[in-house]
Amino acid sequence: MSNLVVDKFEIVNDFLIIKWEGGNESYIPLIRLRDACPCAECSGETDALGNLYKGQTMPKTDAACTILKVKAVGYYAMQIFWGDGHNSGIYRFELLKELGN
Ligand SMILES: [Zn+2]
Repeated sequence: MSNLVVDKFEIVNDFLIIKWEGGNESYIPLIRLRDACPCAECSGETDALGNLYKGQTMPKTDAACTILKVKAVGYYAMQIFWGDGHNSGIYRFELLKELGN
C-alpha cells in the first residue's frame, strides 16, 4: 500500500502542484494529467473477448485541460472535474506522483 499523503495542492497556470506530506512536491502539467485520465472512457475497456474499446479521441480544447474542481476520494485518490464536463477519472496518488516525475 502507498503511504502518500497530500498535504495541500493548488492549480497554478497550467500545472497542478501537489505538496506531499514529508515535503516533496509534484508539478504536473494539466495536459499531461488529462491525457493520463484513468477512466474507462479514456483508457479503454476490454471486453470478455479481449477487444479493447476506447472512447473517441477528441481534440483537446482549452476547456478540456482546465480544472474546475478537485475532490478528494478517500485517502488515496483525487477526482478531477475538467472544464469540458469530464469527471469520471479517479487519480490515485501513486499515479499523480508518477505524472509529476
Ligand atoms: Zn477520462
